[in-house]
Amino acid sequence: MRAMVTGGAGFIGSALVRRLVAEGHTVLNFDLLTYAGDLRAVEPVSGSDTYQFQRGDVADADAVTASVSAFRPDVIFHLAAESHVDRSIDGPDAFIRTNLNGTGVMLQAARAWHDRMDADGRAAFRFIHVSTDEVYGSLGFDDPAFTEDTPYAPNSPYAASKAGADHLARAWHETFGLPVVITNCSNNYGPFQHPEKLIPTVIRKALGGEPIPVYGKGENVRDWLFVDDHVSGLIAAATTGKPGGKYNFGGNAERRNIDLVHSLCARLDEARPRADGQSYASQISFVTDRPGHDLRYAVDASRARSALGWTPATSFEEGMARTVHWYLSHGDWLTRNPSELARLGLGQTATGE
Ligand code: NAD
Repeated sequence: MRAMVTGGAGFIGSALVRRLVAEGHTVLNFDLLTYAGDLRAVEPVSGSDTYQFQRGDVADADAVTASVSAFRPDVIFHLAAESHVDRSIDGPDAFIRTNLNGTGVMLQAARAWHDRMDADGRAAFRFIHVSTDEVYGSLGFDDPAFTEDTPYAPNSPYAASKAGADHLARAWHETFGLPVVITNCSNNYGPFQHPEKLIPTVIRKALGGEPIPVYGKGENVRDWLFVDDHVSGLIAAATTGKPGGKYNFGGNAERRNIDLVHSLCARLDEARPRADGQSYASQISFVTDRPGHDLRYAVDASRARSALGWTPATSFEEGMARTVHWYLSHGDWLTRNPSELARLGLGQTATGE
């Protein structure tokens, strides 16, 4: 396939780019390289003849239209977004601009391109709109998991901007016949995640001897999926997803935040024991809860299993072991500051897989 990936320098987008290129597909990575984008994550494929990078803004209609027309994609995977919930509370404007307006621009460009493909008699096109389970809101501890039919009830500005984008994507299918597929996935984890996110933060703070911040009492529950399994789901959505279809992805691995942090500390205790013999768990520090913090997310992915034949290949234990190992052997992903690297006890390492 000829796949245009927006946000391909980010955490999930780069994993998708690496997989698509490795599988022999032709890829255009379209990314603005905001603070969250880092081309080191696509270094393993950047020399490939079937890979190209275009720096651009999904909210810039001229730039998007020019790239789509020049590249002529069979599939657009739309992942570019502002993705950090805490930042959306401090400054929602960028979330409205990129996630909502940017998705509108992408859909319009895809629609124009799809109409041209139709006129040329060319075959199938798909627009894969990559979204989150956070659009469904918050569950109580005993509530059933989110299905694709769960009503939307986003609570954070991030979730609301993604929910709005999902509605736009749905409408472009209903009104204009654009072959859109919407996917909603739970929390991803794995290599190349931005250091501000929970798992890299825990590792960095632990090794640095600093307090490990946990919101509230750490009782909020999240479902976790290894990033490569999400990538498999996105490719399945592009190849077998039904136009107008909607698919949830989840790891069937619900964990309380405090339990996740304890399990990370235990892995670090084994891999890099503290000099004083104490557990890193002694550094856990509870901090004031995030406003509007959703209590629990849980995902029912049975539609993706039955309709797409998708199933996560990586158990939570295996995925976490691989993830911790990766960060410990790629200290320069956690910090580029040589003195902080030394303080973490991590050497300068070449990034790559
Ligand atoms: P990320 O923050 O790691 O990466 C986002 C990428 O988008 C970066 O490379 C950034 O430079 C780029 N970008 C931001 N604004 C842009 C713009 N205006 N134009 C072009 N590029 C821009 O995010 P991620 O965690 O990889 O998430 C990717 C997508 O998956 C997002 O749409 C997110 O909502 C969704 N998602 C993420 C998770 C998760 O757990 N991380 C779970 C479900 C869904």
